Amino acid sequence: MIPRLRPAIGLADIGAAFRARSSVADFERAFAATMEQAHAIAFPYGRTAQMLLMEALDLKGREVILPAYTCVVVAHAIVLAGARPVFVDSEAGGFNMDLDKAEAAITAETGAIIATSIHGYPVDLDRLDALCARHPQVTVIQDCAHSFAAEWKGRPLQKHGRAAIFGLNISKLMTSIFGGMITTDDADLAARLRQVRDVRLEAGGRGLSRALYLAAATTALAPPVFTLVKRISDLGLIDRFVRYYDETLIDMPGDHLVQIGRAEASVGVRQCMAYRGIIDRRRRIAAVYDEALAEVLPDARPPLVEGATYSHYVLRVADPDRMVKAAARHGIELGRLIDYCVPDMPAYKTLTAGQGPFDRTRQLNDRVLNLPVWVDETQARRVVEVIKDIA
Ligand SMILES: *Cc1c(COP(=O)(O)O)cnc(C)c1O
Repeated sequence: MIPRLRPAIGLADIGAAFRARSSVADFERAFAATMEQAHAIAFPYGRTAQMLLMEALDLKGREVILPAYTCVVVAHAIVLAGARPVFVDSEAGGFNMDLDKAEAAITAETGAIIATSIHGYPVDLDRLDALCARHPQVTVIQDCAHSFAAEWKGRPLQKHGRAAIFGLNISKLMTSIFGGMITTDDADLAARLRQVRDVRLEAGGRGLSRALYLAAATTALAPPVFTLVKRISDLGLIDRFVRYYDETLIDMPGDHLVQIGRAEASVGVRQCMAYRGIIDRRRRIAAVYDEALAEVLPDARPPLVEGATYSHYVLRVADPDRMVKAAARHGIELGRLIDYCVPDMPAYKTLTAGQGPFDRTRQLNDRVLNLPVWVDETQARRVVEVIKDIA
């Protein structure tokens, strides 16, 4: 079975995790160079990075604007940093936040706006610039956890704001097993982040277990092995341990303040070197999907946006759950990313009273279907054949 996600990790990367020759500082230098930014500061998770960035920016007690269609952990990081999330509905025809609605949500209490380029579709920097010119008191934080090398008209997103957040777990476009990163060109902010980090994080030192985890996860996500893993998972034996959020809780994993170590850093350094190749391949596979699906499901295809990097290739269909089930019978795992509306979750209901409406986000939640993008061209064509059969 072809899994919907698989990290771009080979045997040499797993070997590097066990040998653990690079330091976290080496990884930070490599990451900063890759992103063409002056500073990169590593954290245990993207969400920890975001939470501590908000503390470093003194956002406690302020409102922070974010998309309703995003990963739930972004909202958690805002709340746990002592700020108030203000959710904004999605734009027409795309996956990102509606920037007119974002601007309308700005008040005297607004401290920051989280500009997310979800699924790798670049946020419109021209409109974001115009918004910032009118509201210079609002700090822009780029959430690049899905976008990495995405660009808006040739401009790298991560350089366009006070700081950028990256998530680096194994489901992301590039990975350091666990981990998150902040990049910035602001030397004062970088120094403050390092101070906050020194106070708040404890040392890791679980190199061996992290290297084993990478070896196990990469093996489990190899198509022949995944067939077996999926069967075990369908019995509910995995899900009960790995479900990554609880709709009623605003929390973080128990180790969210335990820093990454040399095993993670060693994989991260190698992924920085592989980075361009990873992005090019995803763009190529997205182009294969776009072309091959033009006849089958032309209206379900995502918009073609120059500079997108396809952390996910996401269709919009009327009955995604049926398609997930049908594709599984044909040996293809499809995903439902992001099938929840954060402001509607029980944990957020009272916090977000009076916000919205979130009609476009809910429509996306009901219709999104993501295809495996890590695959090679032959596998991508097989995915298309199966979709053709079941559509
Ligand atoms: C994954 C993700 C993050 C945070 O990453 P973690 O390392 O999982 O905490 C932030 N924003 C978005 C949009 C993400 O998908």
